[in-house]
Amino acid sequence: MRHFDVIILGAGASGLMCAAQLREKSSLKVALIEGNMKPALKLKASGGGKCNLTNVEVNASHFLGKESLVSHALGVFSKEALLRYFHNGGLRPVIRKERYYFCPKSSDEVISILLEKSRGSEMLMGHNIVSVEGNSPFIVTTDKAKFSASHVVVATGGASYKALGASDIGLKIAQEYGHSIIPFAPALVGLTLQPKEFWMKELSGVSVKARIMVAGKILDEDLLFAHKGISGPVVLSASLYWHRGEISINFCPDLDLKSLENEKKLLSTGLPLPKRFSKAFLEAIGLEDKPCNRLNVDERSKLSLIQNYKMAPSGTFGLTKAEVCRGGLACEELEPHTMQSTKVKGLYFIGETVDVTGELGGYNFQWAFSSAVVCATSVVNNNSIK
Ligand SMILES: Cc1cc2nc3c(=O)[nH]c(=O)nc-3n(C[C@H](O)[C@H](O)[C@H](O)COP(=O)(O)OP(=O)(O)OC[C@H]3O[C@@H](n4cnc5c(N)ncnc54)[C@H](O)[C@@H]3O)c2cc1C
Repeated sequence: MRHFDVIILGAGASGLMCAAQLREKSSLKVALIEGNMKPALKLKASGGGKCNLTNVEVNASHFLGKESLVSHALGVFSKEALLRYFHNGGLRPVIRKERYYFCPKSSDEVISILLEKSRGSEMLMGHNIVSVEGNSPFIVTTDKAKFSASHVVVATGGASYKALGASDIGLKIAQEYGHSIIPFAPALVGLTLQPKEFWMKELSGVSVKARIMVAGKILDEDLLFAHKGISGPVVLSASLYWHRGEISINFCPDLDLKSLENEKKLLSTGLPLPKRFSKAFLEAIGLEDKPCNRLNVDERSKLSLIQNYKMAPSGTFGLTKAEVCRGGLACEELEPHTMQSTKVKGLYFIGETVDVTGELGGYNFQWAFSSAVVCATSVVNNNSIK
């Protein structure tokens, strides 16, 4: 059986960054085990093929998960450090919508930098990981072979987009070692509608700039009406915080409703929204499309729903459409300064397998990369390496 100092399970975003860091900082014998024949398929598909790798504003408030764990990782490998790292590899990200850092050409730019920097690690592709057993050494079993390792880094990601190789093996391994897990659930995903809101389905393809309030969070971005329900960046981020119950949508966050009181135009024209939306909305709330300056007190109060429309989604578009999964290994069971299991020395969890999930906007790659850097640094510093 072949032995490695470190076996990284999964050659996705966090696994590749971990391998790259280990190569840079040590001469440890490292292997990456990956089910697909090519590495980082999710990274390749991300951001519409241009990978949104981080955000202008990065701090723990944009993540669901244990604050101290997230803050520490972001402190060790910040947005600035991430940008510097890829800049040194030749990447010149572009900022979109004043917030999001994207690759100028394609996600392949990020992948080639990571592959170049992790060169020297052994890439065991097309190996489906079946189990990890024991410790010192760990025995990793795939559908093709068995390997042993002094350290195992679980970087197998979340369970969404199975077509790209995703699985919940990371959580199974965690449970085998007695860890608590929060089951994976779809996040950064569209929300489906109760019959009361089916009028929105008629608006498929229409997009508005909206503000959503959910579980104490206020999120601003575009909302897109889709055939299945509501989607678009603001809804995807809201889905991270929505479990069940009501959300409130402000379809006109920049409008002062008082400014309409002297407006002679019809509501559907006076409201700064796509006319198709305004008409459907007025019909849904039972308000006649009349001149804005002719509304009585009751009608004005009804119109105010446009800035506080409460609705309870019926569910999500599901795991096949979710960009990430909420849930993962319980944060409390990882040492925040190392990403090492509190139960098993030498066993590490990084990226989406951990119960940390970011909003839409590059936060999930930031987490994948930051947690990988913390882990690799700790593996290198760990005196017990033989
Ligand atoms: C369509 C899409 C677009 C996205 N866009 C963005 C974006 O623009 N910005 C952003 O921040 N985030 C984005 N994300 C989320 C981001 O891709 C993930 O959060 C990130 O890739 C997680 O990194 P990871 O290393 O934890 O897991 P992954 O990158 O998913 O890597 C896990 C690896 O483990 C392998 N694996 C899993 N199970 C097994 C097994 N049993 N045997 C062998 N190998 C296995 C997988 O094949 C995969 O290669 C997007 C996700 C999707 C699906």
